[in-house]
Amino acid sequence: MAHFVGAIDQGTTSTRFMIFDRAGREIARSQLEHRQILPAAGLVEHDATEIWENTLKTIDAALTGAGLEPADLAAIGITNQRESVLVWDRETGEPVHNVIVWQDTRTNDLVARLDAAFVRDRTGLPPATYFSATKIQWLLENVPGLRERASRGEVLFGTMDSWLIWNLTGGSHLTDVTNASRTMLMSLETLDWDPELLELFGIPRAMLPEIRSSADSYGTFSGVPIAAAIGDQQAALFGQTCFAPGEAKCTYGTGGFLLMNTGTTPVRSSHGLITTVGYRFGSDAPVFALEGSIAVAGAAIQWLRDQLGVLGSASESETLAASVEDSEGVCFVPAFSGLFAPYWRPDARAAIVGLSRYHTAAHITRAALEAICYQTRDVVEAMAQDSGTTLDCLQVDGGVTGNALCMQLQADILGVPVSRPAVAETTALGAAYAAGLAVGFWKSVDDLRDNWHEDRRWQPSWSPERREQGITRWKAAIDRTLGWNVGTL
Ligand code: ADP
Repeated sequence: MAHFVGAIDQGTTSTRFMIFDRAGREIARSQLEHRQILPAAGLVEHDATEIWENTLKTIDAALTGAGLEPADLAAIGITNQRESVLVWDRETGEPVHNVIVWQDTRTNDLVARLDAAFVRDRTGLPPATYFSATKIQWLLENVPGLRERASRGEVLFGTMDSWLIWNLTGGSHLTDVTNASRTMLMSLETLDWDPELLELFGIPRAMLPEIRSSADSYGTFSGVPIAAAIGDQQAALFGQTCFAPGEAKCTYGTGGFLLMNTGTTPVRSSHGLITTVGYRFGSDAPVFALEGSIAVAGAAIQWLRDQLGVLGSASESETLAASVEDSEGVCFVPAFSGLFAPYWRPDARAAIVGLSRYHTAAHITRAALEAICYQTRDVVEAMAQDSGTTLDCLQVDGGVTGNALCMQLQADILGVPVSRPAVAETTALGAAYAAGLAVGFWKSVDDLRDNWHEDRRWQPSWSPERREQGITRWKAAIDRTLGWNVGTL
């Protein structure tokens, strides 16, 4: 009998394979980073072949490391960076172009032409370069001959879940409803590709995958059922066992993503949030979520490390920021790809304001950590306004939560406690949970709730006056970033 479940977590910066036991404990993991291809300002690409090869390597390495065979896995779940777009040849499996990553802003002009109210009403999404539709449109318009090949059904579109499923199963062209809900092509009412939107973007139906439930039968790999596919943020919601309406989590990785379960009715946002599918089990009613997406969270730390060279590693940000008491009036708004929720301002560009000669890399690094927290606070505020529910504690996960100073700042800036679970890899865990439930490895979501344990909690320590002052400065800094996209000046 198989005692474990595997999860492929195909993230923005790396691909992992993780193996969990019935108690939700990590048994093994293997992780490989892939290249961030940055051909010009605003462009972000990945090599799809590198990602596929990394996926195979990590599966192999994790199994070998734990002394396990594929037959020891009851199922595999897939979770992935959402929205990023790939088109490949149906016959040869060759990608026709690099993956265009969710952060890429090359389709600014295409987005500006859209009827925002119509798109939002149909999809739950505010038109933005973030989502897949305009990226597919861009490929069809810019890769020679692609439009003709697409209409003849010779090429296929997929987000990273589809790409991996296609390769793992030897040619099944499928996606799940959470990933599909991020393409800006799926109707929130029918949960199917919307003919009017396909026409609007000029995307042939023949290139799109079939939409399945998150926990469903996706085929097999080495004899193991692939039993779940679910977007990374929805997987984290699942891994944090936010199964009841009003339960929420915030994941801090490359970007930051706060999702709140709103039950089986989609809640429309009037404060800059996204209405999205949270998850769907087989033929059960879908569960919806409200989401606040922040484009740059941990990526601001990566930028300090890789572009400015002031950090040797991401974790050094904690020691460097802790070497000063305070950011001393410096605000850093990392709007590298515009501002996402709740502002949705593609014309914003990053700024560091309030500098004097006295300030050092330590102050700027501290301001970067604060920015992660202020952006989250903006989204928490919008969530409270849209849902009428105020959080009494924020459940957190993701790479940045390894930074205790940042989590303390988050509690201070929010004014509510912040709680991190024992298994920080909730994204992979959520995909494993969905797959395990699908094959009966876990019997019910109650089994999963019992697996959730708190590891650490941070209590707010700032006075209300200090918090208010910080928020006022932050909002003033946001104002200074608007309209800075060079194309608009
Ligand atoms: P993703 O799934 O988006 O690839 P992860 O959850 O693996 O992201 O987190 C990676 C991100 O977290 C990177 O952007 C990195 O800069 C940031 N990060 C990792 N460790 C720390 C830390 N100790 N302090 C601040 N940021 C960190």
